[in-house]
Amino acid sequence: MRALIMSDIHANIVALETVLADAGPVDETWCLGDLVGYGPNPNEVVARLRNLPNLTCLLGNHDAAVIEMMPHEAFNGDARRSLEWQKSHVAQETIDFLRGLTGGPLLRGAMTLVHGSPRDPIWEYVINSLVARLNFDAFSTDFCMVGHSHVQCAFFLDAVQNRVVLEIPRVDEPYTLKPRSILNPGSVGQPRDRDSRAAYAIYDDQNLTWTARRAVYDVAEVQRRVRAAGLPDRHAARLSEGW
Ligand code: ZN
Repeated sequence: MRALIMSDIHANIVALETVLADAGPVDETWCLGDLVGYGPNPNEVVARLRNLPNLTCLLGNHDAAVIEMMPHEAFNGDARRSLEWQKSHVAQETIDFLRGLTGGPLLRGAMTLVHGSPRDPIWEYVINSLVARLNFDAFSTDFCMVGHSHVQCAFFLDAVQNRVVLEIPRVDEPYTLKPRSILNPGSVGQPRDRDSRAAYAIYDDQNLTWTARRAVYDVAEVQRRVRAAGLPDRHAARLSEGW
């Protein structure tokens, strides 16, 4: 089974369409949450995802905030302004779809799926080896997929030396997975690892490989839409820098 792994699309339909085309044929699509927030096209993103065959989709913190499951005070200034915009622009079908999602964790074979971390599925960021170390005790499968940090990376537990190693996987090089690891496909719609290309991954559960991928999309078009919508300019500017 070949699965397309995505996270943090953030209402960026241009990046999503680019990733779906770039990934080629897949058997399943797993989305780790944050379909909405920041970007100009929340309804288009949800409609596109909803119609994909064999979709597994988690609820992210921005999704939870838009459907009033999380207080807006948890978000900083520009993110909160963006949330207010999202709330006034999401269609009922979008709300209904988001309300049907779970915050996880979800189990799929050898994988645990969460948006944030196994300890705190919606909110915690796995951004360094210390946080990763604490989280290896919070799931029991060999592997765990996380999103939320918008950084394409992997954490490996060296059980012999009892330490955790952070790696940035090489793009397009299939990595053979060894237990145990925490894997982050990066962000489709708002990468924050200084690479403006849309990030995603391909997981092959037969060969047990993980391939990090990046796709160039029309950033200028999305920036134009963000500004035309009256969303914070910061959320347009950051897309071309990947932060
Ligand atoms: Zn996010």
